[in-house]
Amino acid sequence: MGRAFVYVILGGGVAAGYAALEFVKKGVSHGELCIISEEPVAPYERPALSKGFLLPEAPARLPSFHTCVGANEEKLTPKWYKEHGIELVLGTRVKSADVRRKTLLTATGETISYKILIVATGARALKLEEFGVNVSDAENVCYLRDLADANRLVDVMQSCTGGNAVVIGGGYVGMECAASLVINKINVTMVFPEAHCMARLFTPKIAKYYEDYYTAKGVNFIKGTVLSSFDFDSNGKVTAVNLRDGRKLLVDMVVVGIGIRPNTSLFEGQLTMEKGGIKVNGKLQSSNSSVCAIGDVAAFPVKVSGEIRRLEHVDSARKSAKHAVSAIMDPGKTEEFDYLPFFYSRVFTLSWQFYGDNLGEVIYYGDFSGGTFGAYWVNQGHLVGSFLEGGTKDEYQAIAKATRLRPAVEDLAELEIQGLGFAVAISQKPQSSPPPVDVSGSDLLLEKPLYAWHATAGVILAASIAALAYLYGRRRRRL
Ligand SMILES: Cc1cc2nc3c(=O)[nH]c(=O)nc-3n(C[C@H](O)[C@H](O)[C@H](O)COP(=O)(O)OP(=O)(O)OC[C@H]3O[C@@H](n4cnc5c(N)ncnc54)[C@H](O)[C@@H]3O)c2cc1C
Repeated sequence: MGRAFVYVILGGGVAAGYAALEFVKKGVSHGELCIISEEPVAPYERPALSKGFLLPEAPARLPSFHTCVGANEEKLTPKWYKEHGIELVLGTRVKSADVRRKTLLTATGETISYKILIVATGARALKLEEFGVNVSDAENVCYLRDLADANRLVDVMQSCTGGNAVVIGGGYVGMECAASLVINKINVTMVFPEAHCMARLFTPKIAKYYEDYYTAKGVNFIKGTVLSSFDFDSNGKVTAVNLRDGRKLLVDMVVVGIGIRPNTSLFEGQLTMEKGGIKVNGKLQSSNSSVCAIGDVAAFPVKVSGEIRRLEHVDSARKSAKHAVSAIMDPGKTEEFDYLPFFYSRVFTLSWQFYGDNLGEVIYYGDFSGGTFGAYWVNQGHLVGSFLEGGTKDEYQAIAKATRLRPAVEDLAELEIQGLGFAVAISQKPQSSPPPVDVSGSDLLLEKPLYAWHATAGVILAASIAALAYLYGRRRRRL
């Protein structure tokens, strides 16, 4: 028993939703495309799970955050898929894949064949058991990767108001969940082994700003140590977290955000792997020309840095999906994927964006005591990365554009003086062919800050113009 499709998308997350929209834009025919997903719902904007979904009041709920609302595109509800003749096979896990025969076997025993397969299986949350910690399925230990996890987290949070939570891990999920817990009136202690939060991206100085902000909100940080075990009550609930440094923390709930692992196992030994993911070329094609990979599971060439990278961020999922479909449906008109890495987050009233690479020397600018500040990374004499907290849409656009252009930076002291004005000036210079940059990943619609973000763009823009005028005048005086 089985069905056959021209195109099959394996996985029903962010990348799958954006790929489906692109297929429709490129004129896919009814009955040609199928999406198979283990999740019981149509593709949705996963970042909402740690933001709007966890709000105590007016939380985001489906169908409001189906893809592709995060990029201000159409909202693809199950009705949309039906109307466009796209088969949604939901709540169905694929348990094996045969790349040579071009077939997938589902856990329900159906064989689904394809001409072209797009692997969009994303990643799974790493579990404490994998690090030797016994959790025994305790109901008050939460992870956050999918909707089921998010629903569970909300239930546990609601039963713990006024109680104590420990958040294990100081990355994206840990930081965003900690903020949500505070907003839900839960006392939070964050525990992680690194010297500061967001260790893969933030410098100590940037991290300090966010840690100070969290501390002012009542979050307690315990750094440089890890969890060693839990204490349980007679119902199997965790009552205390024991740390390797000997401390014991009494808890009502635990949230674990210790990283993810790409879902590649179906293809191990069949496709070439790199950086823990499926290696693809600039058309998102794997070592088998009938199989593409997109999103968190794909390791693709990043032109601006000349490296193969696997990114775990929503913008790259959206854009790699779009590009892969374009390369399939319109090969003659599709160039190599030329992606500028882009990450962002929103917590409390804060909002930051980062573009490019955090390599080389760091130059800081702006007001670290509040408001708008940022950093540039300069490697081998060129701007390669930019970070900005509290910017306007135009300012984010400016740092994105400037980073893509990789301008030469001769004088680091001068760059520090110019600050944000440097990126603004670079981005406003006429280009022979303007680079394709958009900051749609900022998801203004969906992932509004957890508290309303009242920085008015006009005021900030006026301030930037004034700052630029001042710097320009100062520069002229220096010449
Ligand atoms: C809570 C949270 C908050 C986040 N916030 C941000 C943020 O603020 N900014 C940012 O840039 N990024 C953020 N991310 C990361 C971002 O969501 C991911 O990069 C993005 O979802 C990747 O999209 P994807 O389609 O590759 O994978 P996913 O969205 O994870 O989708 C993978 C899909 O494949 C399905 N699947 C896997 N294996 C199988 C199988 N064998 N059979 C059938 N189906 C299968 C899964 O069930 C899932 O539906 C966040 C992630 C999480 C979890």
